[in-house]
Amino acid sequence: MKIFSNFSDKLFWLVIAMGFVFLFTIPSPEKNTKFKRLTKHIFPELKYPYTLPQLKFAFNDLATYMDEQTINIHYTKHHQGYIDKLNGILEKYPEWQNYTLEDLLANLNALPEELSIVVKAHGGGHFNHTLFWRTLCKKSSEPEGSGPYGIILEKINSVFGSFENFKQDFLDKALSIVGSGWVWLCVDSSGGLKTFATYNHETPLNQILKPILILDVWEHAYYLKYQNRRVDFVNAWWNLINWKEVEAIYKTIE
Ligand code: MN
Repeated sequence: MKIFSNFSDKLFWLVIAMGFVFLFTIPSPEKNTKFKRLTKHIFPELKYPYTLPQLKFAFNDLATYMDEQTINIHYTKHHQGYIDKLNGILEKYPEWQNYTLEDLLANLNALPEELSIVVKAHGGGHFNHTLFWRTLCKKSSEPEGSGPYGIILEKINSVFGSFENFKQDFLDKALSIVGSGWVWLCVDSSGGLKTFATYNHETPLNQILKPILILDVWEHAYYLKYQNRRVDFVNAWWNLINWKEVEAIYKTIE
């Protein structure tokens, strides 16, 4: 009886100890040492549940360079589709719902595999399109559409030599993508600018690069108006860049 009592006491304390251990190891993504939150966000508001961002232009506003039907389908079908898939997977992972999309994309290797796959594909789709829409404008909306200026122009000139060289570098990256992808202008860890190409909806967020400008070179972005002529699409896109927003994003993340 005495032995049982001792055993029972030990069991009691063991259960208490295990309770404490459990309390301090409640599954939390923060405990994952591989997970590193970004210190600066372009879109701190992008969190579950995700919704389409407001466009600052009408579907037909960019028609000279980007036709109304393409923008309509691109925004209401393609972009919405990525959002739906992203919300669908996060519904199953409530412990990951409160992180920003940028934090999730920068830490894909720290996520459960099933979640990581969907965030990479569809979370990337949502982030990339959100950035893409934000940096577009009507050419007529001066001075935003009239070319880079100020700190962005200075950086472009110092890294690429001239705006024309930068455009050629960007076009080369756009044409290097066989299939679907994105071209980026990013700020690197030393504060310089760097062009970058990614496939599908991959982002440079896990490579310590901070994007400030992005171009969609999936065929769905241009096929109705330009068919196979990606060069023409890229050349047209230069007329639609909202350089004021590019500068604002740069100032947010510098
Ligand atoms: Mn797209």
